[in-house]
Amino acid sequence: MNKRGYYVCNNGENVGGFAVVASTAKEAKKIVYDSGEIIYGDTDYIAIRTRWVRDADVSQLPIGMVDDCRDALIRGLYDWINEHQCDECGKDDDLVCYNGRALCSCCINDLK
Ligand SMILES: [Zn+2]
Repeated sequence: MNKRGYYVCNNGENVGGFAVVASTAKEAKKIVYDSGEIIYGDTDYIAIRTRWVRDADVSQLPIGMVDDCRDALIRGLYDWINEHQCDECGKDDDLVCYNGRALCSCCINDLK
């Protein structure tokens, strides 16, 4: 079965979304809705939006929500994650993926 990575969030909100592996956008939406996880803001089914992250390689992951935030970040399903341990300095901070690693903004500036 074809597996795709989706970012599922509330309409208009770019925070508090979930990384999901599914075959279709409809399935991704259903997985999040059925999980009972709180989507930031309005949780009406019709308000939930899915974004297919075309570049994300999720072929090794099972269908469902991606529990490992760091892994989801490295795969490109999240643009950033908050309060996670930086791969370089070890501090808990907001991280983005940089050259395949999860780094805080300070470490990225040092590497540039
Ligand atoms: Zn760092």
